[in-house]
Amino acid sequence: MKQTLKNMFIKDKRVIIRCDFNVPIKGGNVLDDTKIVKSLKTLNYLLENNCKVIIISHLGRIKTEEDKKDNSLLPVKNTLENLLNTNILFEKDILSEETKNKALNLKPKEVMLLENIRFLDVPNKLESTLNEETAKKLASLGEVFVLEAFASAHRNHTSVVGIAKYLPNCIGFLFEEELNMLNNYILEPVKPFTVLMGGAKVDDKLEIIKSLLPKCDYLLVSGGIANSFLSTLGLNVGASLKTENKTIIEELKTLMLEYKEKFAFPLDAIVETTYDNKPSLKAINKIEDNDLIKDIGAKTITKYSDIINNSKTIFLNGTMGVYEEEEFKNGTIEIFKTLKNTQGNVIIGGGDTISAMNNLGFKNTFKNVSSGGGATLEYIAKNTLPGIDAINEEDNIETLDL
Ligand code: ADP
Ligand code: MG
Repeated sequence: MKQTLKNMFIKDKRVIIRCDFNVPIKGGNVLDDTKIVKSLKTLNYLLENNCKVIIISHLGRIKTEEDKKDNSLLPVKNTLENLLNTNILFEKDILSEETKNKALNLKPKEVMLLENIRFLDVPNKLESTLNEETAKKLASLGEVFVLEAFASAHRNHTSVVGIAKYLPNCIGFLFEEELNMLNNYILEPVKPFTVLMGGAKVDDKLEIIKSLLPKCDYLLVSGGIANSFLSTLGLNVGASLKTENKTIIEELKTLMLEYKEKFAFPLDAIVETTYDNKPSLKAINKIEDNDLIKDIGAKTITKYSDIINNSKTIFLNGTMGVYEEEEFKNGTIEIFKTLKNTQGNVIIGGGDTISAMNNLGFKNTFKNVSSGGGATLEYIAKNTLPGIDAINEEDNIETLDL
């Protein structure tokens, strides 16, 4: 077990916390503050313990100087000030002596937010290529490091993995909850355990599929990834998205043979053609060369819903179809409805899957939603993440009551 915040000596200390404040922002305003609100439990705990709190987060992708314009964390500072009801020091010049002096002079219950840590990537990739010098400099701002950004824990980045090397460290409350949830439900699931795997590319999902097949009772395949399986089985999937990678096709064959009884495939599909975009319903063995499979049909929805309703644990990753387009979101909506009403424990993970859930009317519907996209999938596949490896085990000097 990893060191947790509850067991850590943090009273009166300068605590660096790596949060996930990667929130949608438009026109200088935070559009969805869910992630910020979720962090309050940990932040308030630190403040109640008279800590001096130094917050680090990334926002968006920063590849060029231009990217910095729309990705400042300043709007997050404003939102957080309201939520915490306190003033926050906002430091733009992350690695400067001045910032360091201000950090060293923070008083108990004072909060400092550093500018988007990925700004350090331009020009020298000081964040996304683990940079020891930068890690040491960041670590010198605090006395303890708390990793709270589960969604970034698959990144071997300076602010995720680097700082932990130079300070006593632990995972935060949210991180711990998320790990416990994935461990309880996915790594040791109550059976029957059904995995519903949709989404775009099978190449991205092969590792997680391989790790879940031995554990699950059923693997319901959907979305773009189903096309690759169907095509490998010899069915015509027309012009639909599918993998061309021969090694992957071989692996799919092997998996379908080894776990034959666990797989379920779509029976029908909503397609459009390459020459017009009128949607039509077709049986899965009637797909023609110009068809593009873009959603699952009614028979598939019924078949998958029946299996879901006979399961005790259900893990969903990926959407059933191209949910971004009006004509092809029905399958995803119907499956969310089934999951909402089913008796079993439902766990939902994945970046697009979570946006689909929120955008299609299922926000706050499910209890077990894993905040990570890539991080969640990689954790399930490998049972660990670089960020988790960087945190000390529970049983060390920090836990002793000296
Ligand atoms: P996550 O990010 O949650 O892991 P994915 O990115 O794998 O999920 O899945 C969502 C994406 O899959 C969406 O962009 C959706 O348009 C795409 N998708 C789903 N079904 C199909 C399909 N039949 N053909 C092409 N793309 C699809
Ligand atoms: Mg995605």
